[in-house]
Amino acid sequence: MTADDLTELTIKEAARLLRLGSISASDLVTAHVERIERLDPHVKAFLRLTPEVWEKQVEESERRIREGNAPPLAGIPLAVKDVLCVRGVETTAGSQILRGFKPPYTGTAVARLFEAGAVMLGVTNCDEFAMGSSTENSGYFPTRNPWDLTRVPGGSSGGSAAAVAAGEAMISLGTDTGGSIRQPAALCGVVGMKPTYGRVSRYGLIAFASSLDQIGPFARSVDDAALVLSLMSGLDPLDATSSDRPGMEVLNNFGAGVKGMRLGVPREYYDVKGIEPGVKAAIDAALFILTRAGAEIVDVSLPHTDYGLAAYYIIAPAECSSNLARFDGVRYGLSEVDAANITDEYLQTRRKGFGTEVRRRVMLGTYALSSGYYDAYYLKAQKVRTLIKRDFDEAFKRCDAIVSATSPTVAFPIGSKTQDPLSMYLCDVLTLGGNLAGLPGISVPCGTSDGLPVGLQVLGPQWGENVVLRVARAYEEASETKAEVASVV
Ligand code: GLN
Repeated sequence: MTADDLTELTIKEAARLLRLGSISASDLVTAHVERIERLDPHVKAFLRLTPEVWEKQVEESERRIREGNAPPLAGIPLAVKDVLCVRGVETTAGSQILRGFKPPYTGTAVARLFEAGAVMLGVTNCDEFAMGSSTENSGYFPTRNPWDLTRVPGGSSGGSAAAVAAGEAMISLGTDTGGSIRQPAALCGVVGMKPTYGRVSRYGLIAFASSLDQIGPFARSVDDAALVLSLMSGLDPLDATSSDRPGMEVLNNFGAGVKGMRLGVPREYYDVKGIEPGVKAAIDAALFILTRAGAEIVDVSLPHTDYGLAAYYIIAPAECSSNLARFDGVRYGLSEVDAANITDEYLQTRRKGFGTEVRRRVMLGTYALSSGYYDAYYLKAQKVRTLIKRDFDEAFKRCDAIVSATSPTVAFPIGSKTQDPLSMYLCDVLTLGGNLAGLPGISVPCGTSDGLPVGLQVLGPQWGENVVLRVARAYEEASETKAEVASVV
């Protein structure tokens, strides 16, 4: 087996070879690290590599494999988005303001994957504080799409999606507040899943919008995504919003196929403004494949879809303006110590440390929350949120899961939307409803348009991860589209 073959494996395949002794954890990790060294100067998925972490973890995995009690992810190469704290590893949320910050602890989701044997290769690039849809808002550099280096990988978890698509990591972690796992998964041709709000602990996640943020996996197959998700799910006393539902329930019956299932196609999503003909054609083909596999397609409606974007772009900035107040130049990272007084120190640090989009959101959010405007903006947005949640409740009376495109477009050229924030915000129209309603959703590769990957989104009812995974897996099997590793250069 060549090194490149090793970087195209799924967890299932790798785990078998590791247990048989045909490859070692060290072979697997070395193959990925070499691929990073070769390709990442072009893709730029990683902000930093963590040999100090992986060396120990490889050793530990090899020991456990030798002793015959290998945990489920023993030796599996993992990349971690720069918003998830890992003890002693510089973690900056893609921002200059946190440059040099090394968390004193590891967040729960990452810690659970470490316990399951995963080997951390490094920290991946993202939009600053996860605000964006292209990874161009990173405080460091943009990441490129492995399928076409002149295009964006999506965002905000673009580095994590690109790393898996380029064969630089077998699995990775992202966060999804309005679509930041599903949209880059779609644009990079990999599987990406956002769990139900409360499924995965956010302890150790640098918060963006706390009523929306969720952590989830990227992988090259639905099975892999399901396994990783199940391992990081479940109650955590350190996050009061985490649910006590058992993590393993996400796997219930998920291999059962779609025969007899009703899949709802919301007309507002199907005909969403700006959807590219090539994306629509790929979705039509996917619906046909699902029908042939035994599903029934039903027409449903999400009548408040048009208001979702506006509500999201009030609620998310409002929450971010409050969450980001802690970055004051005193407690973490960057500090403008030459300031004349403490207020100037705050102001100068924040002006210097935050990028344009973050400052825009903090200002929008502060405005929306200010007395006199609170009722007109924030309260109204929360009411819209309730209506959107009810739309989904109604739709799920008529269907088991909802299917649509993940993104209205394929990956767009770098620089094409940076001057027009609204066009960037429109990337999320099909994903952010799932966040506002707290629902589980996945994006799976469903063919290409103009040679670029298209993603099929499956949304399920609250706690219905197993339903979402079941549809995604049935589609993957029936269409025979495994996420391919992009050839890059
Ligand atoms: N693109 C959306 C935003 O900019 C979603 C980001 C996310 O999910 N983290 O807010």
